Amino acid sequence: MATTTNKRDYYEVLGIEKSANADEIKKSYRKLAIKYHPDKNQGDKATEDKFKEATEAYEILSDDKKRSQYDQFGHAGVHSSFSDAYSRGGGFSGSSFEDAFGGSFGGFEDIFSSLFGFSSGKSQAGPNSRRRGADLRYDMTISLAEAAFGKKTEITLRKREVCDKCNGTGAEAGSKPTTCDMCGGAGQVRRSQSFFSVNTTCPKCKGTGSIISNPCKTCHGETTVEKQKKLSISIPEGVDDNTQLRVTGEGEAGANGGKSGDLYLFIHVQEHDIFLRDGIHLITEIGISITQASLGAEIFLPTLDDKKVKIKIPEGTVSGKIFRLKGHGISHVNYNKKGDMLVHVIIEPPKHLSGEQKKILNELKKLLADNDSPMPRKPS
Ligand SMILES: [Zn+2]
Ligand SMILES: [Zn+2]
Repeated sequence: MATTTNKRDYYEVLGIEKSANADEIKKSYRKLAIKYHPDKNQGDKATEDKFKEATEAYEILSDDKKRSQYDQFGHAGVHSSFSDAYSRGGGFSGSSFEDAFGGSFGGFEDIFSSLFGFSSGKSQAGPNSRRRGADLRYDMTISLAEAAFGKKTEITLRKREVCDKCNGTGAEAGSKPTTCDMCGGAGQVRRSQSFFSVNTTCPKCKGTGSIISNPCKTCHGETTVEKQKKLSISIPEGVDDNTQLRVTGEGEAGANGGKSGDLYLFIHVQEHDIFLRDGIHLITEIGISITQASLGAEIFLPTLDDKKVKIKIPEGTVSGKIFRLKGHGISHVNYNKKGDMLVHVIIEPPKHLSGEQKKILNELKKLLADNDSPMPRKPS
């Protein structure tokens, strides 16, 4: 599947040099964020887009690992891991931006707080803050027949799941988290800055609204643990090579009650021995003899689902003729529509003729009165 190509270069977005250091990146983003912040420009779509673009660029360039990946591979490099759901336009992700950040601008608070120094001493993106779980990628190779007719299968993933010892509260059995007295359990406090005011994560409870004094021994208060999980997957009939299927909510569990991430299945379809795929159609080729082409014949061909179909070669069939077997192709992945099987006919003259065969063909040649100067025509 194509990666997004019309995205602007992240350095260009932030108006900085490739060699910019962390400080310059932060400074530049801060300037843009103030200019384009949605609280200041309510309802202005273009400004909102600029804000998102700048924030995305900052997310990547402020992270050394993502930045070097971006420097090396461009947008494709960062899409394939961190921000698949985040910045790929269209496809299965829909409004991926909101997905990635839990549906509102609230998701930016961590960035904001660290940028603007809202926190009262401690870092805001602490281990207890509510976080959306990471998206996961799972690559799967299937045969052309499985792609055409669908496949039910089971996959095993290692991922973070909600801790069932404490039911995701993070508190040891017998103890309970208590309501945070700073935010009254809301998890957020409103702060004013010279230009605008923003809701920001409560520094005391890190956004959870509660305080855990006796952390769960299984998850150490993290609310999630790494586990193996078996998932039943149903691949729809008609999927094509490089299709990405999103399984909502099957990524890693969010921490402290944050939303789960999504699982992305990357489907790779193997080449088939006798069929080429053209969308919902299958193309194959057969060689027939000069006598079959001249006299006509009935021929049996295998289909993708291992059945036999009969095609009738009429008398006088020319090389290059295409027979269309309706409904023997692939189902459309979205519509109630089925493709065809197209059979290209090639006439193959016999090789290594016996003396007798040659004699008969020479007699036939006389009878046919072969033309030594056939009239050329424009290819059709
Ligand atoms: Zn609080
Ligand atoms: Zn636990």
